[in-house]
Amino acid sequence: MAPPFVQMSIAEFVQAASSFAWSPQKTQVHMHHTWRPNHAQYKGVSTIKAMHDYHVNTNGWSDIAQHVSIAPDGTIWTGRPWNQSPASAAGHNSRSVFMFETIGDFDAGRDVLRAAQLQAVVAVIGTVLSPGALNAQSLRFHNEMSSKSCPGTSVRKDDILDLVRQFHDAAATLTQDAEPLSPERRGEIDEAAGVNASTEVLDREDVGEHPDHGDTEYEAFIERH
Ligand SMILES: [Zn+2]
Repeated sequence: MAPPFVQMSIAEFVQAASSFAWSPQKTQVHMHHTWRPNHAQYKGVSTIKAMHDYHVNTNGWSDIAQHVSIAPDGTIWTGRPWNQSPASAAGHNSRSVFMFETIGDFDAGRDVLRAAQLQAVVAVIGTVLSPGALNAQSLRFHNEMSSKSCPGTSVRKDDILDLVRQFHDAAATLTQDAEPLSPERRGEIDEAAGVNASTEVLDREDVGEHPDHGDTEYEAFIERH
């Protein structure tokens, strides 16, 4: 489905995801960091395209691994069709999993997850998982499913869960204040999120996980893009 990739504000994502035709409903959210690109390497849409091209051309996947990518400025980029299984963690992928990549290297001493980017992370989790669906099992860090440090050793799951609970408590106020999406904009986001993707596309499964520490070929590729 992707590209083209559509850039959403937090308020746009919350509205688009709240009314999206989920099939099936997501029951888990998987949180990742990209490691590379890190904050300094993020250049906007070209960075999203670079990840897409690497996942498709080098890893041989059907699309970019993630459903959305969250940029350092809090921008939320569309990715693969939201109703397709992600390429998140080997043995843990299914169509009921929503996967996002937080752009950055959040291992201790590297980039810091804060401000608009942290707000976007919290809003994505809190929108995909309702208050009744949120718990320590439905939000999963990549490092709970593999030996990777992802989403970074400086990110604490209890802190994220607390912030998502606060987001749920404030959600009614947040949506009241948001500018409603125009039908055109809603259609554009729905299309980029694969609302019209064929059954054949949605049934495709990709085996593997995003590149991580030690993958010097990938590191050099991202550095060039
Ligand atoms: Zn990961």
